[in-house]
Formats: sequence, C-alpha cells, structure tokens
Amino acid sequence: PLLLLPTGEQQIVVACRIRPMTEEEILQGATIIAHKVADDNMVVLLDPEEDHDDVLRANRSRERKYIFDVVSDARADQQEVYLATSKMLLSSVLEGYNATVFAYGATGAGKTYTMLGTEKNPGVMYRTLHDLFVEIKKFAGKREYQVTMSYLEIYNELIRDLLATSSSSSFLELREDAKGTIQVGGLSEVIAKTPEEVMEMLHKGNRARTQEPTKANKTSSRSHAVLQVNIKQRDVTKSHTEQVRFAKLYMIDLAGSERAAQTQNTGRRMMEGAHINRSLLALGNCINALSEKGNTKYVNYRDSKLTRILKDSLGGNSRTVMIAHISPASVHFEESRNTLNYADRAKYI
Ligand code: ADP
Ligand code: MG
Repeated sequence: PLLLLPTGEQQIVVACRIRPMTEEEILQGATIIAHKVADDNMVVLLDPEEDHDDVLRANRSRERKYIFDVVSDARADQQEVYLATSKMLLSSVLEGYNATVFAYGATGAGKTYTMLGTEKNPGVMYRTLHDLFVEIKKFAGKREYQVTMSYLEIYNELIRDLLATSSSSSFLELREDAKGTIQVGGLSEVIAKTPEEVMEMLHKGNRARTQEPTKANKTSSRSHAVLQVNIKQRDVTKSHTEQVRFAKLYMIDLAGSERAAQTQNTGRRMMEGAHINRSLLALGNCINALSEKGNTKYVNYRDSKLTRILKDSLGGNSRTVMIAHISPASVHFEESRNTLNYADRAKYI
C-alpha cells in the first residue's frame, strides 16, 4: 500500500540495480549470489554461509526474496536504468513539483556509475538533464524556462560547494527563513545550458569530493554528493509575475552505506562513519514515515543536514525514486543483505 499523489502517481518508487561482477571479485573467487528473477521485479539473494544441514534443521531457506518496483541486473544499460527510474520524475518537475532521486548502497556497489557514469556511458544525472532540455524545447513560445544548478557535498555533516571556483574550502551553513524554507548560504548556482556542459561540471565537481582510503576500499566515498537542479518557469501566454513557478530536482549520490565497524576504522574515520549513518538513518526514517498510511504521519527532517536540505522535496507533493545498489558477489553478501533490507523498509512500512 503506497501513498498516491493526487494525480494518481506513486510517491515513492524503489528500484534495485545489481551491477555486473568486477574483475576483482572474479579474481577473489567470488560466486554470484544475487539474481534478478526473469520478467519479475524480484531479487533473490543466496546466503553463501548457510550449509544444507543448517537450512534443514532451522527450517530456513538459503534464499531471501525481495520485491521492488523496478529491478535491473548486469544486462541493463544506463539508458534502461534511467528510463525505469528518474525519467518518470520529469513530467512532475515540469509541472512545478519537487522531486528527488537518490542512489543508495555500499561503497563499490555502483552508485556513482548510475548517477554520474562515465564519459562514454553517462548516468542518470546527464540523461535526466538531457531529456529535461528536450522537453523544455517543446514548450517554446508558451513557457519560458530557466534551469540552474548547484552541486554540494555533505561530508562529516559539513557542507562544501563542489562548484566553487575559488580554492577556499570553507564550509557552508544552512539557513532557514521565516516560511521555514531551507537554503544553503553562499552556495554557487550556475545556469545550465547544455547537458554536455553540465556533465563536465559534474565530473569536475566529483573529483573535488572528499575521498579517503579506508581498509574496506581504496576509493571509499564517505560523502554525499547532492546535485540540485532548479527549474523556474513562466507562462508567456499570460501576464506577469504570478505565472512564475519553481521546482527543484535533487539527484543524490549517497555515501557508502557500509557500517563503520566493517572497515575496522578507529578515531576520525570511525566518527565519519557515525555521521554517515546518521544521515542515512535520518533519510531512512523520513522515507519510512512518508510511506506510512494516514494523514497523521510525523516526518522528522531535523536529524541531519541531508534531510533538512531535502525537507520540501521529500513527501508532500514531491516524488522520490530510490535506487538501491548491490554487488552480485558472494564476498559482499552482508552488505547486499543490509542494502536490500534498507530498501525494503523504505518501501512498505
Ligand atoms: P560506488 O559509487 O557505489 O562506490 P562505483 O559506481 O564507483 O561504486 O562502482 C564500482 C566499480 O564498478 C566501478 O569500477 C564501476 O565502473 C563499476 N560498475 C558499477 N556499476 C556498473 C555497471 N552497471 N556496469 C559496469 N560497471 C559498473
Ligand atoms: Mg561512488
């Protein structure tokens, strides 16, 4: 039972992407334990540890099954994943509703590949902007659009501007106005003209993300990368300012969801882990609250920087797409199970 928007659209859509095995996993001798069921939106995860006797004794199954709105596996390309997820948000955004799409999963599960992608195979951010510009052109002479964007990082509950031109690495503060609207003070906002230009900026911004080696993975990303696209539209067939509408579209590459304990980190990085969990936990709690039935639901946005920023773009009239990412490899069973459970919780509580 999912909450429906007045227009009959599903408010939260949960997708799962299983990436292909990496060379490293194959070299480690890992087997494939996560499968998409053919022609079905089901993921089957096998527990590599449970042996047959255990299963019989405990009357348990080695298999865990999960159902999502969308499931894609190694065979799905970037366009297919985009069409089944972020694409569905465009019509609402063009009508003036806010929307959010985010990539969830452990480090190495494929979040950045889905959101940013490579130059040859761009991801959701590029494809969404590309189609946004295509749609806008169709309204030429009727509606006037201006698209601007910002790109920020939340690392350790501190906000940094990923498009800042100066080399100063100062932190930005959240400001709340009298109406309760949250803004990031001093954040760069650039006019987006072509998707190619935007893509270049995003790659540059991504290289500016805080990355530190951990024991779990050399390129473990402990920062959330938040792309905010602002769409301002004016109906030119009518007169004056009351015809102006705004919508915000957030596309977010979340920090790795693996637990700090798994990476055996201590001290500073352990604290980072705690902060990351705080943001992811707060996000999970908000989404759970939004998925609940009834009008009395209470959504607590105040618990983290991420949820405060997303306050007016999660719930209400906004639409959300969550893309959970997992590796298919046996060596990542724990992480995959945690991710599938998180995504499952987001779906039908
Ligand atoms: P994350 O951002 O979750 O840490 P990445 O997106 O960096 O993970 O993916 C880890 C590795 O797997 C990268 O080398 C990436 O190119 C590769 N990869 C991820 N998803 C896919 C995919 N769907 N197809 C091909 N390669 C992928
Ligand atoms: Mg990444």
